[in-house]
Amino acid sequence: MKNNTNNIVEVKNLSKNYGKINAVDGISFEVKSGEVFGMLGPNGAGKTTTVEIIEGIRQPDKGETFINGLNTIIDNKQIKKIIGVQLQQNAFFDYLNIYEIIDFYSKLYGNKTKTIDLLKKVELIEKKNSKYKELSGGQKQRLSIAIALVNDPLVLFLDEPTTGLDPQARRHVWNLIKQIRLEGSTIIMTTHYMEEAEELCDRVAIIDTGKIVALDTPGNLIDKLIDKGFKPKRTIKKASLDDVFLDLTGQNLRGD
Ligand code: ATP
Repeated sequence: MKNNTNNIVEVKNLSKNYGKINAVDGISFEVKSGEVFGMLGPNGAGKTTTVEIIEGIRQPDKGETFINGLNTIIDNKQIKKIIGVQLQQNAFFDYLNIYEIIDFYSKLYGNKTKTIDLLKKVELIEKKNSKYKELSGGQKQRLSIAIALVNDPLVLFLDEPTTGLDPQARRHVWNLIKQIRLEGSTIIMTTHYMEEAEELCDRVAIIDTGKIVALDTPGNLIDKLIDKGFKPKRTIKKASLDDVFLDLTGQNLRGD
């Protein structure tokens, strides 16, 4: 499906309270079609609440959100058809293998994608006969991304897609995200890894206590900090311990 607006996601003056907690406090932003948009911020900042309102899973107290011009609350059914949601924790049927799990979800969404193609895309083809409980953390993350892709979504939501993964497995998920972006999907992701946001995101919103405190490209945000006279606490070397790890153990996937 083609989108008909440059701003594929519009978030207008969103607020959500849980009792006395102002989880989301008047948030507005737009996400451009085809970009990877990062939602960053400390634990409890309001990222998940904001994302779940955009996905149509939660109702806001105030404000509106639109995806591809559709109102998330009024047009909830149509919204579900054009978004893909990858969750942090999944409970899949123990008795199905990986091929059958993806195939099951694919059928639910009208077989828009071929299961075998999705398995190849997320590098799980060799695990197609395995059960979910036999997968490593990295493989489980890639399976949950495959499932979020079954309806060939216009907008893909990724919730901390590389939490708990080793550097190789993380890079494989990064490459997968870059590939999905190249194929035309818009991606909204949360992450607590700033190097991940720098590598993947065209723009990031930094959220704190329910408010957006900055929204820009990672490069511009870094430049603004340097312009303010920022001095790093330690010398930044040309390589990191991450680079050492990858140099010593290689870039290839293990039993990740
Ligand atoms: P994290 O980085 O830890 O995932 P977050 O930025 O996604 O955090 P939210 O999960 O949106 O933050 O939570 C925002 C605030 O709302 C927190 O204070 C949280 O405790 C509170 N909160 C979230 N969900 C509920 C709920 N269902 N009931 C009550 N309070 C909630």
